[in-house]
Amino acid sequence: MSLEAALRARIAEAGPITVAEFMAESLLHPQWGYYTNRDPLGTAGDFTTAPEISQMFGELVGLALAQAWIDQGAPGRITLAELGPGRGTLMADILRATKQVPGFHDALRVHLVEASPTLREKQRVALAGHAITHHDRTDTLPEAPLFLIANEFFDALPIRQFIRAGDNWRERLVGLDGAALAFGIGAPDQPPELAHRSDVAEGGLVEICPAAMPIMTEISRRIAAHGGAALIVDYGDWRSLGDTLQAVQGHAPVDPLATPGAADLTAHVDFEALARAAQELATSRLTPQGVFLERLGITPRAETLAQRLSGPAREAHVAAHRRLTHPDEMGTLFKVLALVPPGAPMLAGLEK
Ligand code: SAH
Repeated sequence: MSLEAALRARIAEAGPITVAEFMAESLLHPQWGYYTNRDPLGTAGDFTTAPEISQMFGELVGLALAQAWIDQGAPGRITLAELGPGRGTLMADILRATKQVPGFHDALRVHLVEASPTLREKQRVALAGHAITHHDRTDTLPEAPLFLIANEFFDALPIRQFIRAGDNWRERLVGLDGAALAFGIGAPDQPPELAHRSDVAEGGLVEICPAAMPIMTEISRRIAAHGGAALIVDYGDWRSLGDTLQAVQGHAPVDPLATPGAADLTAHVDFEALARAAQELATSRLTPQGVFLERLGITPRAETLAQRLSGPAREAHVAAHRRLTHPDEMGTLFKVLALVPPGAPMLAGLEK
């Protein structure tokens, strides 16, 4: 049996499934899920991420979070949380860079929200020497000031796709064409999440991410009640428009339906929807990753690190700096959104 055979059998018996159901099974099926059994990151894997490209990303993010903690009066017991920590590289860089911030490490407890048993084990190794607590979901995070980072987490959450049809919407579904998985279209519907999308013309496609909503509610309730900040970095934009479902295998795009469970599936993040789910907090302007990192001082940091490097290591370091910040690479496609309590200063590098 394979995941594809299991999905085909399920669809043959019970009818087409939503794109979200297809994504959820492909990514997190307990036996065959993409994240369940593998470490997909790095050059030998399927994709790479900002913290895997350079230590500078985590260093600057860590110092921005520590500054937010100081700006809010350096509370005595806080949660430092990460959603979807991958190999643990980002959290390790954050902790190393903030070691010298007086009192920060004494105050913080590290909490990681991670679904993959394989990646939980990598995180334990990367963060050896630090007490960490793993969670399946955000709703079990402690009731305490919450300083949270999520890099390339929300893009992995399942999305549903809807196509404008007159006054209604029709959902894009995954069904069968003969024996093969194929996209199809569902019956007319009026999902309440799309009531505000009068901007979408006939035939236009929008995506919603239902799983993101309770996560944002849990995070924002804690930050509103106890203080803290959330920093969300991902590819996407303000207000979703168009089909952004994509599958990647071995650093190259593949057909999303071709190899369920063997390819990474993501969709662009609708930052407007995240901000709407956190209305009790102040949100930053949605800011390109390159602008954010430049404002935090990535160029002087890159120059300092470059002094210790030569030859291929120096070239790789220069390329990594460019990759994180240049508009033709991750600098513009990736965006940063921060959320803080209404009266609190905005995170460094961002503006209200
Ligand atoms: N933040 C890391 C890894 C990004 S990959 C980095 O920047 O390198 C996405 C991460 O989210 C993986 O750790 C994956 O296992 C985790 N993940 C995906 N869906 C999840 C879910 N529904 N709940 C918890 N973790 C999830």
